Amino acid sequence: MTYDVVVVGGGNAAFCAALAAREKRERVLVLERAPEDDAGGNSRFTAGLMRVAYAGVDDLKKVMPDLSAEEIARTDFGTYTEDQFLDDMARVTEYRCDPDLTEILVKRSLDTVAWMRSKGVRFTAAWGRQAFNIGGKFKFWGGLTVEAVGGGPGLVESLTNAAKKNGIEVWYRARALSLISDDDGVKGVRVKRDGKTVEVRAHSVVLAGGGFQSNPEWRARYLGPGWELAKVRGTKYNTGDVIRMALDVGASPTGNWSGCHAVAWERNAPEFGDLAVGDQFQKHSYPWGVYINAHGKRFVDEGADFRNYTDAKYGRVILNQPGQFAWQIFDGKVKAQLRDEYKIRQVTKRTANSLEELVKQLDDVDADAALAELKAYNAAVRTDIPFNPNVKDGRCTKGLAIPKSNWANTLDTPPFEAYAVTCGITFTFGGLRIDTGARVLSTDGEPIPGLYAAGELVGGIFYFNYPGGTGLTNGAVFGRIAGTSAADAADA
Ligand SMILES: Cc1cc2nc3c(=O)[nH]c(=O)nc-3n(C[C@H](O)[C@H](O)[C@H](O)COP(=O)(O)OP(=O)(O)OC[C@H]3O[C@@H](n4cnc5c(N)ncnc54)[C@H](O)[C@@H]3O)c2cc1C
Repeated sequence: MTYDVVVVGGGNAAFCAALAAREKRERVLVLERAPEDDAGGNSRFTAGLMRVAYAGVDDLKKVMPDLSAEEIARTDFGTYTEDQFLDDMARVTEYRCDPDLTEILVKRSLDTVAWMRSKGVRFTAAWGRQAFNIGGKFKFWGGLTVEAVGGGPGLVESLTNAAKKNGIEVWYRARALSLISDDDGVKGVRVKRDGKTVEVRAHSVVLAGGGFQSNPEWRARYLGPGWELAKVRGTKYNTGDVIRMALDVGASPTGNWSGCHAVAWERNAPEFGDLAVGDQFQKHSYPWGVYINAHGKRFVDEGADFRNYTDAKYGRVILNQPGQFAWQIFDGKVKAQLRDEYKIRQVTKRTANSLEELVKQLDDVDADAALAELKAYNAAVRTDIPFNPNVKDGRCTKGLAIPKSNWANTLDTPPFEAYAVTCGITFTFGGLRIDTGARVLSTDGEPIPGLYAAGELVGGIFYFNYPGGTGLTNGAVFGRIAGTSAADAADA
């Protein structure tokens, strides 16, 4: 049988592509490498946060029609305009993000999430993660307001149900091996299904098989020495296979091949993500405390910006520390502010009633140096500036080689707590070059007939960093475009 459109991958980008293709064509097949109970890629590991541009609550109601009058009354959603989203993309990627792709990502963000809603994915406001309660009213910050009901698992479940309801075939344990192609373009995919190699013919193929973060050999090769030692936050199945398949037929690599999203992650977490824990191994409350490395030294400005704009870069900074680990240290004043992920059972945590006692308990750390460093930090805090977690409060240190620019609190109130972290890689930034129709371009700059791509395996959109919640939006926007383009080409 020849399919109209075959989609490689089983995450958010893949299902958005398949659903869009199915609007125009009958025979759509999804190939997912993982077994069904492990399927859904990195998308399933997420919190389901999706960054969308919105001019106000009326826009948000397009994706969250269930918002009640009472919820609206007790929430200040503010606005997150297209210009703000574009500015955030430009700023955090150091002005390298592809302008044409970024414009589409931003301008289609709201409409695409509303389209997902029309397919059966439900969304809610991320009160628990992205809002502060100020005087009884929730105020959103950082432009990230929407999350899928049920987080990543809920998102993948509803996309899978929508695919099945729409008559899209899904093969699990179906690992794409290579593309079938000739001088006229791509004609299908060679697949290992349940251990047997088969050829699947298709008019168009959409690649949505994720990055190469789960391949330690490629990590060391492209991200650099030491990266093989990072933990993987999400799925073990994104090993770069699908990028390689496209490069093998002449696709152009582009983007930040030595870059990735990587965060502070529980030091003793398993090698790959654990769906039972999800993203709770992350440790994102560092702006309220300080970092100490094996030499007992601070090494990064924990308060350089809102957490959303620094967390994706600081994983690399931790990987570069001796022994690839660090301790986050907090005192009793900010304990109530620590995120839920600090309360799980699977943490490496130390508690003490004095800094002297605490530093002795920090495994693999020079305790004397750590104590001296923490005292020097305490002495440098501008306590004349009030602490305010809701804004960049400018409460900084003075005179330290490594400053803390905001939220600098003295560590003086027991109990003192320390949490051990290492680098957890989320996804890689380098990938395939596409045009605004999600067509894969060759190294000669021409579209490869029959080949489309979306999601994590596309390069040129994220460099150095990314604004939180943009990964899913990117996969959805370009997945939808890829599916539509692939279906249109299959028509021709
Ligand atoms: C812990 C964690 C939390 C995150 N939180 C967020 C968040 O809240 N918001 C956000 O926007 N982003 C978040 N991200 C990033 C987000 O997960 C990704 O940007 C996004 O899910 C990528 O979607 P995708 O469809 O491109 O890839 P994936 O969802 O990873 O899907 C790739 C699929 O391809 C399959 N595959 C791989 N190789 C093959 C092959 N050879 N043949 C067939 N199938 C193959 C995989 O099994 C998988 O199903 C998070 C990531 C992690 C790890």
